[in-house]
Amino acid sequence: MSVPPTPSKDFIRELIDEDLSSGKHDGTVTRFPPEPNGYLHIGHAKSICLNFGIAEEYGGRCHLRFDDTNPTKEDVEYVDSIKEDIKWLGFDWGDHIYFASDYFEKLHEWAIHLIEEGKAYVDDQNAEEIRKGRGDLQNPGVDSPYRDRLVEENIDLFRRMKEGEFGDGEKVLRARIDMAHPNLNMRDPVIYRIVHAEHHRTGDTWCIYPMYDFTHGQSDALEYITHSLCTLEFENHRPLYDWFLDNLPVPSRPRQIEFGRLNLNYTVMSKRKLLQLVDEGMVSGWDDPRMPTISGIRRRGYPAEAIREFCKTIGITKFKGTNDISLLESAVRDVLNRDANRYMAVLNPIKLVITNYPEDKEEEFDAVINPEQPELGTRKVPFSRELYIERDDFMEDPPKKFFRLAPGKEVRFRSAYFIRCDEVVKDDDGNIVELRCTYDPETRGGQNPPDGRKVKATIHWVSAKHAVDAEVRVYDRLFANESPDSGEGNFLDHLNQDSLAVLENAKLEPNLAGLETETTVQFERLGYFCVDSDSEEDKLVFNRTVPLRDSWAKAQKKN
Ligand code: ATP
Ligand code: MG
Repeated sequence: MSVPPTPSKDFIRELIDEDLSSGKHDGTVTRFPPEPNGYLHIGHAKSICLNFGIAEEYGGRCHLRFDDTNPTKEDVEYVDSIKEDIKWLGFDWGDHIYFASDYFEKLHEWAIHLIEEGKAYVDDQNAEEIRKGRGDLQNPGVDSPYRDRLVEENIDLFRRMKEGEFGDGEKVLRARIDMAHPNLNMRDPVIYRIVHAEHHRTGDTWCIYPMYDFTHGQSDALEYITHSLCTLEFENHRPLYDWFLDNLPVPSRPRQIEFGRLNLNYTVMSKRKLLQLVDEGMVSGWDDPRMPTISGIRRRGYPAEAIREFCKTIGITKFKGTNDISLLESAVRDVLNRDANRYMAVLNPIKLVITNYPEDKEEEFDAVINPEQPELGTRKVPFSRELYIERDDFMEDPPKKFFRLAPGKEVRFRSAYFIRCDEVVKDDDGNIVELRCTYDPETRGGQNPPDGRKVKATIHWVSAKHAVDAEVRVYDRLFANESPDSGEGNFLDHLNQDSLAVLENAKLEPNLAGLETETTVQFERLGYFCVDSDSEEDKLVFNRTVPLRDSWAKAQKKN
């Protein structure tokens, strides 16, 4: 099997290379095993890129397997969203979609196999008693009073558990391994529990469900997975993973390999916490553009390619660590700088009248669509006597270093003319409502005038009569604290109160009308923005994806 040359490989790919060259395996089969109890997040993207990426690179395959052993928390809504997110990220499981619940029969059979071998028993203790009996790192566990039940009795009780004779938690099936094992996971772990709940796929066929540890490795073996890649928390479950494979008549022998999970600063990544943000209305839903979910960052305008590139950049290691969110944002900027077409948009408009420009005159200026893709050519931008500019681009009483518009000052209006501000019009409360200006016809297209006069700033503008209205949602980090999980108190205490600013009166260049949802563009000088699904025909809604530059890094350096 040919492996493409890569300058430096991570330890997982090196192990796979070894297994292939030693002949241990003649192909590579990986799997991505989400539990359908929430939406996928950027952490899952790391695992998806790894598992599907390896399958692609090695000409193998990657299975999508729903790890659906917990009927009370799982739902088809999550199954559907997970499929959609993986496809959007650019990966394909082909025909290889599986559900752990497809193996419930087999797992049940294997549980009986263990009982028959004297390697599993029904325990009547409740969860608290079992927990106490397990001991801790310093102290060995104590045997359950039910540990030495006879095989026949165990078979009978397990059958009655399955037939629904007992209530939730009344009995469990435990593997009979070693109550003094240094690894707590090996101290007779629970492998089946009673849950009287409807399962999203098997309905009410079952009222006993296998535990994750009793399901995962066996599912891997049933699917002939060669390398079962998971995050470091599962490292001390590996002896148990192997114990089940050693003690059951499984058809293949997968190998579990652990890697460091992705953590990002300024966000939380556990599904339980993300669900809490949704349930408590702290965000508008799983796909709120501030969420670290795949559906959230997609709606925000992050391109799938940027997420894949980011995952490549951070790489795969054995270390626990936290990655800086600016690294992800920088990957997003790299892709969007190349792909996003340029437009002018004014987010905080102030009206401006060019007094020496004829009332009914209109012109169109050519502006470059995307300097990174010159073949796309130019677009026409209409110009007229009344325009909007950004409130921030004007100061009535500017400090020395302010080079943009001010009374008596002249600037270049991008692709249009040199314009001088002559007069500021205010309302009765002293608010600036209009700027009265003059233009220099000799600077058409934004050219320097024949007299060699220069200006120090170029600003963007939108023709008032042609403008398209929009709402623009400007996002900041969802949490004000770099590690909301480890800060004082509850993670919710660290929410950034200013994570969303809604600008209701944005004015856009008319070329922005009619773009499809999810199109990401550059608003010149401002950043990248993406058409939101809330857009309506007469009112577009844009999400700010990222500003042009990393203002956070700058702001923090200053502090
Ligand atoms: P969470 O902790 O967010 O609830 P989980 O591990 O319970 O996530 P699963 O649906 O079980 O979620 O995860 C599916 C796969 O994605 C697993 O193989 C898991 O190891 C991997 N995964 C989950 N979170 C991360 C992460 N932050 N970085 C890398 N891989 C992850
Ligand atoms: Mg999990």
